[in-house]
Amino acid sequence: MPQADLHEDLRSGVRALCRDYPDTYWRELDAKREYPEAFVRALTDAGYLAALIPEEYGGSGLGVSEASIIMEEINRSGANAGACHAQMYTMGTLLRHGSDAQKRTYLPQIASGKLRLQAFGVSEPTTGSDTTQLKTTATRTGGTYIIRGQKIWISRAEHSDLLLLIVRTTPIADVKKRSDGLSVLLIDMRTAVGNGLTIRPIRTMMNHATTELFFDDLEVPAETLVGEEGKGFRYLIDGLNAERILIAAECVGDGRWFVDRATKYAKDRVVFNRPIGQNQGIQFPIARAHVNVEAANLMRVRAAELFDRGEPCGAEANMAKLLAADASWEAANVAVQTYGGFGFAEDYDVERKFRETKLYQVAPISTNMILAYMAEHVLGLPRSY
Ligand SMILES: Cc1cc2nc3c(=O)[nH]c(=O)nc-3n(C[C@H](O)[C@H](O)[C@H](O)COP(=O)(O)OP(=O)(O)OC[C@H]3O[C@@H](n4cnc5c(N)ncnc54)[C@H](O)[C@@H]3O)c2cc1C
Repeated sequence: MPQADLHEDLRSGVRALCRDYPDTYWRELDAKREYPEAFVRALTDAGYLAALIPEEYGGSGLGVSEASIIMEEINRSGANAGACHAQMYTMGTLLRHGSDAQKRTYLPQIASGKLRLQAFGVSEPTTGSDTTQLKTTATRTGGTYIIRGQKIWISRAEHSDLLLLIVRTTPIADVKKRSDGLSVLLIDMRTAVGNGLTIRPIRTMMNHATTELFFDDLEVPAETLVGEEGKGFRYLIDGLNAERILIAAECVGDGRWFVDRATKYAKDRVVFNRPIGQNQGIQFPIARAHVNVEAANLMRVRAAELFDRGEPCGAEANMAKLLAADASWEAANVAVQTYGGFGFAEDYDVERKFRETKLYQVAPISTNMILAYMAEHVLGLPRSY
């Protein structure tokens, strides 16, 4: 099938599925801070969350371009792909660095929906963006690792069977480079919780099912190691471009949703005997938000094409994430301004999406870290941290 047709098919399929989960569904879950179990199940059953899993393991073997279209359309429908995006962006680590045994064991079960790989454990309370300093350790003793430490902001941990966890396996004092000595483990949460792993939910400004994880001598088999011991930071970096592109696509979806809603409202709302959208003070900000979302989308498409061709795309993926997160946040502000008082009312969903899209200027990576990457790696300026 020509790529354009495949993309159109994907878009219309995801849109059709999302129509069964209207604004009221998301609004009610948001109020109760509940996980969208039924929506994620429907997406899984339709095969969308297995887009990146090769066909030989039961997935559809698509690229990041296609995966990003799925994420974009979810957010454009008014839903929140944050409930399920980790399966897409952690997949690369397992595909590229997992052993044959790990792939044969896990991928078919993830593709069929029997297992959920929705949790990714990097962030820690004391070290923040300075990932190489993370303090959670895994110590090898014979055939097992003993894990000790704490993670924070680990989203969907209560709704995931597997956790891709990054830990230090060699003390920082014993390695040449601070990025050495970190390793990736694939933890089975079903046996870990209550046996050394405790999960504590964190209530946040939006419905994101995020948590703190406490590891008190959690013992896991040595076979949970993904790839080589000590190379985990490299694997993490390898996966970041896909993550950036997928999040950029979600922001494009959000941005288009805000522009659509603001435009419609500006046409319908009549004040001083004319639609508010007739005023340049209302229509110009919406038009500008549209321009910025579409410009960001071009960078996202370019980054995804490079990624899928196996070409370097670090600069493009980072630029796409920054531009799209800023554009969706601008569009969110414009939508609230256009709705006036109603922008603050839960019944219009603008305030919910406003809270949801704000996250992407902070997580999974904050805008300053992207600027630091561009300054150092693209412009050749001195490292600032
Ligand atoms: C809702 C939510 C869900 C999340 N989900 C996950 C998850 O599933 N898994 C996971 O591992 N993490 C997750 N995170 C964590 C997220 O990736 C981090 O919050 C993010 O990377 C920023 O780290 P921090 O919060 O520690 O901020 P800090 O590192 O403390 O930074 C705070 C501010 O200072 C700025 N700053 C720091 N150092 C510099 C510098 N050198 N130069 C310029 N500015 C700087 C940052 O850009 C930021 O604006 C989530 C976070 C949230 C809020």
